[in-house]
Amino acid sequence: MTRPKHRIAIAGFQHETNSFSPTPATLADFEMDDSWPGLMRGPEVIARTRGINLAVAGFILAAEADADVEILPILWASAEPSGPVTDHAFDTIAAEILAGLKAAGPIDGLFLDLHGAMITESHDDGEGALLAMIRETLGPDLPIAVSLDLHANISDQMVDLSTSIALFRTYPHLDMADTGARCFPQLLAQIEGARPCKAFANVPFLIPLHAQCTDMAPMGPLYALAEQHGVELAAGFTGGDTRHTSPSVLAYADTQEEADRAVATVSDAMLAVEPAFIGTPPPPEEVVRQAMAMPMGTPVIIADVEDNPGGGGSSDTTGLLRALVSEGAQGALLGVLHDADVAKAAHDIGVGGTLAMDLAGRSGCEGDAPFEGRFQVMALSDGRVVYEGVMYGGGEAQIGPSARLKVLDTAADVHVVVSTIRNQCLDRGYFRALGVNPEDARIVAIKSTVHFREAFEPMAQAVLTTRVPGALASDLSQAPYRNLRQGVRMGPDGSAFERA
Ligand SMILES: [Zn+2]
Repeated sequence: MTRPKHRIAIAGFQHETNSFSPTPATLADFEMDDSWPGLMRGPEVIARTRGINLAVAGFILAAEADADVEILPILWASAEPSGPVTDHAFDTIAAEILAGLKAAGPIDGLFLDLHGAMITESHDDGEGALLAMIRETLGPDLPIAVSLDLHANISDQMVDLSTSIALFRTYPHLDMADTGARCFPQLLAQIEGARPCKAFANVPFLIPLHAQCTDMAPMGPLYALAEQHGVELAAGFTGGDTRHTSPSVLAYADTQEEADRAVATVSDAMLAVEPAFIGTPPPPEEVVRQAMAMPMGTPVIIADVEDNPGGGGSSDTTGLLRALVSEGAQGALLGVLHDADVAKAAHDIGVGGTLAMDLAGRSGCEGDAPFEGRFQVMALSDGRVVYEGVMYGGGEAQIGPSARLKVLDTAADVHVVVSTIRNQCLDRGYFRALGVNPEDARIVAIKSTVHFREAFEPMAQAVLTTRVPGALASDLSQAPYRNLRQGVRMGPDGSAFERA
């Protein structure tokens, strides 16, 4: 038997941090199953991610096809987007990654599956801090290929301390596994001695998340241009309040001149289309009326873009629910509202029972309040959601004990899916788990910014977006930023940020 030629270690540590969310990400949040599997160690990282659309799974699949490579999986952990990661969680997981890397013996390269927008209690650049710890342990020369989310707020430190970075090119993120797979030949080339020249530039304006969808202009064509020039493009995560928060452009090439030119080409193209990014969506009452005026037949989707738990939203603001009821919406389905107390009460009383309770609205969002009402329990679930769509295809979500409730004492016909665990409603499976087909609804109201489009847009006659104040401001001038880079524009054509 010949000895494997290259020993490649693999680790993943994912968090998208929303500075405006009051709920921290604790170690328990990284350990538990949610939209993705909970913390995994060693061979579990391979077994439990196989077939899932994750960068780590794509990298592993590519590496397994190379008989000259030995994979050493260390650890993979993610938590649902929220407020900053506690020092305890960060230090514990980072220490375990470092210990695993040391215990792995001599390695030739490292693949890291990171997000790029992690903030901890002590670090405004979680990924940069992790890379610094790894470099301190493994030295400056080890090839490190990093995969990042399209929503990364890339720092100089991330660029300096990695050998290469690749980012998702789609939002909804359909190419997570592909991005991981793309990192494999890059890392292999680095192991064999390649050290590409790097160029990196920040874009001088922020793009609200609802305007970042790559199925539309201007983002779609920008990503096509970036790919054509071999450029990595980060759209940025506007929920993070740091000096790194902004879109950015990154290129690797054989010569510095080539890398610089590629970055300039894409940066210039972004500046040229700045006025083309879509503006702030209308309020919910207006959008519900618009949906009700559309012909019966296929559903109309209404996206509550600011209260997306996948961007750190509480998933419990009640403005859209209130508008559905006040405007007398018929055949309306809303998901997923996070309220563990109401979910528990629904399970206690059982299907057919009625509850008089305050539903959700406890996140402290200004102007939001619990929805006081009576509800009939229509269906219950233990909260296992089997993904049907491409984005999370192959996996399943755990939303804990959950219920579908019908709002009573109103002429409106509104059903609400309520969960124990906060989860982004980006797949039809979230409704199917509660015994209802979203295809049969007249209006499907969803707490998601863009990811829902992959699963829900094909079945809809229209997709409308609405603005109910939440943790992901669609009008960035309303977000209470304190730490942005001096002069960065808060939104396309927005006012420049001034440090206090
Ligand atoms: Zn993302």
